Amino acid sequence: MVVVREGSRGTDLTAEGHALALDAADPLAGFRERFYVPEGTVYLDGNSLGLLSREAEAEVLRALAEWKRLAIGGWLGAEPTWFEMGEELGAATAPLVGAEPGSVVVTGGTTVNLHALVSTFYRPEGARRKIVATALDFPSDVYALASQIRLRGGDPATDLVLVPSRDGRTIDEADVVAAFADDVALALLPSVLYRSGQLLDLPRLAAAARERGVSLGFDCAHSVGAVPHRFDEWGVDWAFWCSYKYLNAGPGAIGGLYVNRRLWGTAPGLAGWWGYDKTRQFDMAFDWTGGEGAGAWQIGTPSLLAAAPLRGALRVFAEAGIGALRERSLRLTGYLMGLLEAEGLLEEPFGYRIGTPREPARRGGHVAVEHAEGARIARALKARGIVPDFRAPNVIRLAPVPLYTSFHEVWRAVGALREIVAEGEHLRGAAGRELVA
Ligand SMILES: *Cc1c(COP(=O)(O)O)cnc(C)c1O
Repeated sequence: MVVVREGSRGTDLTAEGHALALDAADPLAGFRERFYVPEGTVYLDGNSLGLLSREAEAEVLRALAEWKRLAIGGWLGAEPTWFEMGEELGAATAPLVGAEPGSVVVTGGTTVNLHALVSTFYRPEGARRKIVATALDFPSDVYALASQIRLRGGDPATDLVLVPSRDGRTIDEADVVAAFADDVALALLPSVLYRSGQLLDLPRLAAAARERGVSLGFDCAHSVGAVPHRFDEWGVDWAFWCSYKYLNAGPGAIGGLYVNRRLWGTAPGLAGWWGYDKTRQFDMAFDWTGGEGAGAWQIGTPSLLAAAPLRGALRVFAEAGIGALRERSLRLTGYLMGLLEAEGLLEEPFGYRIGTPREPARRGGHVAVEHAEGARIARALKARGIVPDFRAPNVIRLAPVPLYTSFHEVWRAVGALREIVAEGEHLRGAAGRELVA
């Protein structure tokens, strides 16, 4: 075992006592008590599905009680009203993305919000017809963008430009900026790459896009609730995200979107009555009068039950503070990567590799641990009660979530990674990934 000295205290990074000491000294450690951590597990998959908190649970029960008691009266009689739920929850989400309250609305889902925004801001004109995305995008985004191009009579084979990766893991911002050519109308980029966990330089990209007349949006599914953003200050055009990953609002929970004030009033590409000016929505007039801010991009009646847990989940964020959570997240992921190194797992015979940038400013909330036998190792971890997820072909994603993961759990997970390969435990399991990996 390699002993790594940490600072002048001469701490052995690999010692269990060190992990326990980190937890004991942690001011945010108490938040874990708010969450239902499945018994007997080390849950490192909060970047795919965040855990239920007591606050979120209470809000669902409250929503059911209101429905029971108020029935149709709940649209205006519930507290807060169901009628303005999208706007109200948008305002509560705004601090997480650094936006004024009216620029955020809670509505739809990730891919649906992508369509709502791209159908609005993709305006192919003359020679300016292309859309820029990346070769490492989440597939849903690529399917959606290709379909948007076809809807406008274009051909994705020529109009969809995927910025290539130089190393198969990361995207170089300079390559993205170079792709913002005169024939580009719109760009959609992930804030954090779903596989490697690279965090892109959002302010730099937003500035470059504006300079070149490219409408730029960010898919923040892997950053909202993990990384603080300052959309207003950075002049971001538009963005969207889901609430079931780091925001902990439950499977399929209602998503969110952001539209910068300077774009308010643009006619939505997919209009619906829920985006109408709230004070006149029930006039039932046929002429379009959109809500003032991001609310105009709502389409239809939101699901109360898919939105309720988000209110509770956001209360936990407001209490902990996204700045403090980001700091703790960086400590956890830094500790995880440091341990992999200190335990010798990045060398033979273990053969693990870290696919996530080591610099804090370039990584999101999870760590991509690569291994040729990644799928089987992920299964072996699960058999031990350690819940990672796996992304083909070789990435084990580990997300120590700052609201509920302890340093000791990270220590246990790394120990398991060592033992599984040392004992050939993974070789006894089935090959290949599961249907939902
Ligand atoms: C999780 C995720 C999605 C999921 O889309 P849904 O419409 O919520 O199913 C989309 N994009 C990215 C980058 C994601 O990580």
